[in-house]
Amino acid sequence: MAQRIRAGILPSLQGPDSRLQVHRTSCVEDVFSNSEKGIFAHISFERLASNSDANSPSETRGKALAMIQISRTRPVVLKSDSDTESNILREYADFWKIPYELNSSTKGAAIFATGNATASDASRDSPLIISPNGMKEAGRIARSYGLGISVRNSLISLPAGPGTNVSVRTDVCEFSGPDAEPLLKSGNTQVLTKVRGERVYLLSLNLVGEFSKRVYDGFEETPSWKFRMATRLPFSYSAIPRFVRERSFRTKEDLGESVYEKLAPVECLRTLFLASLVISSGPIPRIGFWRRGKSYALVVSHDVEGASGLERGTVQLLEVERNLRIRSSWNLPSDRYPLSVHSLDKLKNSGEIGGHDTKHDGRLTFLNIDEKIRRLGECKNRLEQLIGREVRGFRAPLLQHSRELAESATRAGFDYDSSCPSWEILSPTSLRAHGVGTIFPFAINGILEIPVSLPQDHQLIRIARQRPSAAVDLLLRLSSWIRGLAGPCVLLVHPDYEFGMPEHQAEYRRLLEGFSKDPECEIMTLGELSSWWKLRSRASWKMGDSHPGLSTGAESQEELRTELVTGYGSDGFITEPLP
Ligand SMILES: [Zn+2]
Repeated sequence: MAQRIRAGILPSLQGPDSRLQVHRTSCVEDVFSNSEKGIFAHISFERLASNSDANSPSETRGKALAMIQISRTRPVVLKSDSDTESNILREYADFWKIPYELNSSTKGAAIFATGNATASDASRDSPLIISPNGMKEAGRIARSYGLGISVRNSLISLPAGPGTNVSVRTDVCEFSGPDAEPLLKSGNTQVLTKVRGERVYLLSLNLVGEFSKRVYDGFEETPSWKFRMATRLPFSYSAIPRFVRERSFRTKEDLGESVYEKLAPVECLRTLFLASLVISSGPIPRIGFWRRGKSYALVVSHDVEGASGLERGTVQLLEVERNLRIRSSWNLPSDRYPLSVHSLDKLKNSGEIGGHDTKHDGRLTFLNIDEKIRRLGECKNRLEQLIGREVRGFRAPLLQHSRELAESATRAGFDYDSSCPSWEILSPTSLRAHGVGTIFPFAINGILEIPVSLPQDHQLIRIARQRPSAAVDLLLRLSSWIRGLAGPCVLLVHPDYEFGMPEHQAEYRRLLEGFSKDPECEIMTLGELSSWWKLRSRASWKMGDSHPGLSTGAESQEELRTELVTGYGSDGFITEPLP
């Protein structure tokens, strides 16, 4: 068998000069079938990473081949001369959990850099991928390789899984000229270009700047003056000020096809990061997002706004959840309405209880940091006294969020925060459409932030005025897309609103039923997601002489799924499990 592997596989994998590395007919067809859409219209097969079962009979696929390929992999070297940029490059690598080093020089290792100068000391044996950190740098790079450059705003859409695309609208600088060889396109926009005769690959997008703008700037939400005025009066979701109520929403436009583009543009950037590495330098090991056997996750969270929600709405929701064996997260304000021990027991035994501020008056965002920390600490302590258990998570009222609030949650002793939407039609605070553009958790100011990845019930039913059945239809469509991205579906349902009413209980059941029957869905509370994400984050790769392994406890190794990304095609990444 070994001989057959050598004869059939190795020639296609060895050396930078092998011309054609996509062998399997279906692979080639996959790529060509997309040419109509234009995504891979000009993809070059030269040095394109192949599926590792290329040319091999089925019995030789799998572990042995993965071992051969992985032994050739080296950590990716991330290069940048600014700490801020380096940290964002690390965010990309840590997201995928690929082996990497910062600003080192490992012979033959792929280099991912934010500028030409940063990478200029790179050995010419190494593939060099550059994502220019601005238009100026893009211009300098174009000049140094004798290429032309043109800038335009474009919608980039890339495959992230079978039948699942991710997209981002942004400025792109396309490189052109006789020495510019397009490797990856979206429609007629070039996103990855190879410099002919060099092992240099140029991305048309500024991955560092885009990440910072979308995630970090998106996390800093500025309250509108109208909201400032409104918070002088008693304010809550159930008493929406008139200026919000009267705002007209073009629901079809806001909740149509473009919603995918708004929920997760960052996933398109992340896809491009990994795709450019695999296309330029071949197979890369990574750690899967979820436990072995699971391909995506569901988290059901509830913010309990008032006494009737607590006493009546929770009964409706709990009945459905218990029936489907779903445990959920219940976020409660500690000092807004009476908290009966009986109700709290019921909730903590069906999942977990998180903090939701003290008075829930919308003013959290205006307090100075000491007042914020004091309030959050007060909320945590009082709930802990009442339930006799640690309260690990926080969610700010109205999904208010900022770096200062995140830091306050850290300093008040919370373990995770879930206070920002991936995207929502109307933030009650800024009175604009708003979100952080990612559906996955990320670390910020010392805390793990878990975005509410699906639009919450209040936005769909009370603001966009959808019927509960239409809201469920939309949530199921979006969930199936998130499943395609292997992401977490984080729901926010209030017991105080429609789904907490007996007449809509059947719709709530319809919303959750599919998840509970899907063996590939990992159903977690927010706290469980936080613990899992941190366990995965702590694991790292050991790259020795032998094939790489994880440096983490045996127990975690059992649960973490390691795989080899062997290629990128019309169904997203091609992967193979690692032994
Ligand atoms: Zn609330």
